[in-house]
Amino acid sequence: MPEKTVLVTGGAGFIGSHLCDRLSADGVRVICVDNLATGNLERIAHLVGRESFRFVRHDVEMPFDPGEPVSEIYNLACPASPAQYGRDPIRTFRTNVLGAMNVLELAAAQGARILQASTSEIYGDPDRSPQPETYFGNVNTMGPRACYDEGKRGAETLFYHYRHERGVDTRIARIFNTYGPRMARDDGRVVSNLIVQALTGARLTIYGSGEQTRSFCYIDDLVEGLVRLMAAPASCQGPVNLGNPAEFTVLDLAEMVLAKTGSASGLVFRPLPEDDPQQRRPDISRARHILDWTPTVGLGEGLDRSIAYFAELVHQGKTGE
Ligand code: NAD
Ligand code: UDP
Repeated sequence: MPEKTVLVTGGAGFIGSHLCDRLSADGVRVICVDNLATGNLERIAHLVGRESFRFVRHDVEMPFDPGEPVSEIYNLACPASPAQYGRDPIRTFRTNVLGAMNVLELAAAQGARILQASTSEIYGDPDRSPQPETYFGNVNTMGPRACYDEGKRGAETLFYHYRHERGVDTRIARIFNTYGPRMARDDGRVVSNLIVQALTGARLTIYGSGEQTRSFCYIDDLVEGLVRLMAAPASCQGPVNLGNPAEFTVLDLAEMVLAKTGSASGLVFRPLPEDDPQQRRPDISRARHILDWTPTVGLGEGLDRSIAYFAELVHQGKTGE
């Protein structure tokens, strides 16, 4: 049996399942905790049944005792798509804040190192670009995105206080838009929406003018960054941006998807959701310096891999892995 046990909350989600794969490949025992709100067991089916992998269906809003020692915890439990986290905003807020508190209590009790999956949404609709970790952000507390943004900000505050008051060894990754295979077909985020629309001959939905920007990070790069951050020295305090600094408008993305799929689909413009950030681009100097990390998969290559995955889903008539 592996010597090290790592707990991953949200491990049946898009990022979490890739992280479980990576940790398993590294020879680590993994406990995956997930309530399957937006996750599904198919993503981890190949791991279930292994002696070094355990799945526990549990809601992180409630305290959790794994009943065995764990040395590291990755806290990823939370829906990440605006369409999904907006469906039950109070629950999203509870998951972020109560979930963070429960896993931090577990880390404190076990003396485990703990990493929080925070987000670029911490910066809200930023009035500076690129966004460094020192930027305090521009977030509306009274809008539809606040349950997620403020929930994640509250979680960061809890991580800060558990480090300073309780001596917990904490890490905070501020993750920028990440995409790739295993996103659900009906996830609602822009990369999956546009690819599936292009593959099925539907018009590509552009919210607002499509001139707003995002920086898209391929899943393998992100997982590498998370693992490096967890392994960084305890002196590595404060949040670390993880994202790909190459910035694209939504229209750029739509053009690339159309060209790569060879689709004849047109575009259809829909209203811009409230508080939708106009720009987003990470300053990753800190990650480069502390983790020696930089993304290696460009958007073109990442889209090729993602299109191949979604083409298979569409072919099989499935909604997700
Ligand atoms: P996802 O929705 O695919 O995965 C989230 C997982 O958490 C799902 O398996 C879901 O069932 C589980 N979950 C939700 N609420 C839970 C609860 N109360 N108890 C237990 N499990 C619960 O999303 P993702 O894209 O994989 O994101 C994973 C994490 O990374 C999230 O915390 C998200 O905020 C963060 N993040 C993601 C991105 C991105 O672009 N994908 C960007 C920034 C931050
Ligand atoms: N978006 C879009 N069409 C879609 C889905 C999203 O134009 O079908 C836009 C959305 O308004 C936002 C950007 O794409 O400006 C990224 O949206 P996503 O939901 O992927 O992530 P987030 O807004 O959280 O960055």
